[in-house]
Amino acid sequence: TNTKATVLGLGAMGAALATALVRAGHATTVWNRTPGKADALVDLGATAAATARDAVAAADVVIACLLDADSVHEVLDPVADVLTGRTLVNVTTTTPDQAKEIAGWAAAHGAVYLDGGIMAVPDMIGLPGASVLYSGSATAFERLRPLMDLWGESAYLGEDAGLASLYDLALLAGMYVMFAGFLHGAAMVADAGVTATEFARRSAPWLAAMTGGFAGFAAVVDGGDYTVPGQQSLVFSDLGDLLGASAAQGISTEVVGVVQDLIRRQVDAGHGEEGFARIYESIRQPA
Ligand code: NDP
Repeated sequence: TNTKATVLGLGAMGAALATALVRAGHATTVWNRTPGKADALVDLGATAAATARDAVAAADVVIACLLDADSVHEVLDPVADVLTGRTLVNVTTTTPDQAKEIAGWAAAHGAVYLDGGIMAVPDMIGLPGASVLYSGSATAFERLRPLMDLWGESAYLGEDAGLASLYDLALLAGMYVMFAGFLHGAAMVADAGVTATEFARRSAPWLAAMTGGFAGFAAVVDGGDYTVPGQQSLVFSDLGDLLGASAAQGISTEVVGVVQDLIRRQVDAGHGEEGFARIYESIRQPA
């Protein structure tokens, strides 16, 4: 089915999203603050709108892929009257609170709101491995799912508009800490003459294999009993050797030190024989 859609913002990501819609045969109107970025899309079959107002008026489904929450307001506040009765799918990266604020703003102007968090880089849009997390209107999600599935796997998290953004950031937390851990390892072996490239070849499959441990930790956390047998204990997980070897190489111990601190707090509270997953409690209750 041919759904009419408008894409506001033709940066790297907005252009990728719009391209997927046009290629699938949807009547797509595009707009970008700085002119010229629509040209390639127009060649593919999109319609360029001269103003954000014209763009919003052109379709019932308005997709915003702008820089941040401020830019969403900058673009949409002056055209809020035309947004009434339409559905706003905002895939601009925001904090959960900003997403909720924009959802409230949209509701106040009679627009249906769906927030999206894109778990992909532009080159991945439409390819296996790309996913987009959504929260907000469940009916909008169901209705627009065939369209949004053109970008990647669509996942709906709940009515609270801030959920997609919260979940998105939670996934990025794991990514950044993993990247930092990899780079720490690369720094550890650098003076031994191991290049980061060589280290990456060993580290990537190792870390990928270790993700197999997530489900076990999750089962313990969800079960709420850190004494269940078969776990690696907190005492056994002491990172003293790792910190010592890092210091001996003359490198920072900050990355690993964070994990050691989380372990220590639980050991000091008398939980040393319980499982490593218990550092979750250190995180839930900041020192
Ligand atoms: P770009 O920097 O390539 O594009 C930013 C877009 O926002 C441009 O179209 C720009 O218009 C527009 N813009 C910025 N400020 C304003 C404003 N005040 N008024 C109107 N338009 C404005 O970024 P991306 O396309 O990569 O990212 C867009 C969104 O997607 C961001 O929120 C980003 O976090 C998110 N995202 C991006 C990913 C990525 O890998 N690129 C991954 C996941 C999410 P102009 O051309 O006029 O400057």
